[in-house]
Amino acid sequence: MSRTIIVSNRLPTKVQRTASVLSFTPSEGGLATGLGSIYKSDDNVWVGWPGLSIEGEDEQQHVVEQLHADSMRPVFLTDAEIKGFYEGFSNETLWPTFHYFSQYAVYDLTQWETYRAVNEKFCHAVLELAGPDDTIWVHDYQLLLLPQMLRKARPESSIGFFLHIPFPSYELLRVIPWSKELLEGMLGADLIGFHTFGYMRHFLSAVSHLLGATSQNGIVELGNRSVVVDSFPMGIDYEKYATTAASEEAAGHIRQYREALQEVRVILSIDRLDYTKGIAERLKAYDLLLQRHPEWRGKVTLLMVVVPSRDQVAQYQSLKEEIDELVGRINAAYSSITWTPIQYFYRSYPLEELSALYRLADVALVTPMRDGMNLVAKEFVASKEGQQGVLILSERAGAARELSDALIINPTDTIQLAEVMHEALTMPEEEQVQRMESMQALVRQYNVHHWVELFMNRLFYSKNKQLTLAT
Ligand code: UDP
Repeated sequence: MSRTIIVSNRLPTKVQRTASVLSFTPSEGGLATGLGSIYKSDDNVWVGWPGLSIEGEDEQQHVVEQLHADSMRPVFLTDAEIKGFYEGFSNETLWPTFHYFSQYAVYDLTQWETYRAVNEKFCHAVLELAGPDDTIWVHDYQLLLLPQMLRKARPESSIGFFLHIPFPSYELLRVIPWSKELLEGMLGADLIGFHTFGYMRHFLSAVSHLLGATSQNGIVELGNRSVVVDSFPMGIDYEKYATTAASEEAAGHIRQYREALQEVRVILSIDRLDYTKGIAERLKAYDLLLQRHPEWRGKVTLLMVVVPSRDQVAQYQSLKEEIDELVGRINAAYSSITWTPIQYFYRSYPLEELSALYRLADVALVTPMRDGMNLVAKEFVASKEGQQGVLILSERAGAARELSDALIINPTDTIQLAEVMHEALTMPEEEQVQRMESMQALVRQYNVHHWVELFMNRLFYSKNKQLTLAT
């Protein structure tokens, strides 16, 4: 029987070490939920890094056994590999370049070589498991070289690849000294998926400019084989967010928050700490709102959750300082004894509390400079039981292609953003409901299960078509 093997940098289980004891907690991330139905059924398996350094043989064996019971196969990385492959090439070269922050990108030969070596390591791990009839689905920017490595070892395998971040214009991509190798790596797949049509177009243009390969209707011709390229906007587990937001537990949290906030309106901002998220620009726009519309002073609060992330990378440390400074300055300028303009939380929240915040908020501010999709926008929409609430969404988030009933803004235009916040806070209820209903219908229908099914079916048909043409 043929199996499906999912491969991603991280496994859908968080392995943590506290006082030398390892604990295993299932991840609540969208990908884990969406693919849960696949990798946990039959003999399917998920291959990935457990997320921390585990060097002792006995401990590795323990991790292998624990994860095996949950259909997972760990790939262990040494400290040097974590530094060069993950913190280095993935997060200091690919992440900034693909999000149009080339000025932050590092081009380091050793990091590149480690990236390639770790992709090889993943390849070996997959080949140990995969039979010739198995379907392999590779995820994201940490594993761009893997499809080609697998293709060389298993020319007949059915291989899919999905990129969860934006794909930039080839003018940015070609700045990376190894851009051709990266494209060739991806082209090892039979099907390459992106969140939006725009990213897909950029990829096809890069393939044409940098590799000279032609494509027609999203099919790249490589001589002996062809590669299908298409867009598959990823969805969320709609029911999970809708149900949790409507739960008694969430209602309890909301009562507590409301008691503290009284009549004050809530603008919500939730992101990982990242320079792609436009957090500093958002704060400047909020400052402008309080300047241009002083009537909101004392009547609105910005509830800002920043989830700690990548704190080993220099840019993230200075961004944290910039945000701390801006929040401090704005709060010092406008606070009163009874009112704080920004309530700032530097930590992560579990689903129940996050859902309560989504349900409580009058306005959600999702204003990244660049974002592959942005799931927070969709989660906010799914959590709005009474359909009240306004989503302000950056035109540069993948989600903006689908959520056209949000108030779409340019995140660098702080004046526009300040005015749109005012518009959102004064939007008639009828209009809020109308916009929210139409976004909910879309997010409910194109949920994460639909996304998985669509991608897997497309992979199956593109592969079968190729086999038919070859015989
Ligand atoms: N999230 C969370 N706890 C928090 C804040 C965020 O679990 O305190 C989750 C959120 O629900 C969402 C994810 O983190 O699913 C962020 O995904 P998104 O696509 O918005 O951005 P990314 O961090 O992947 O760039």
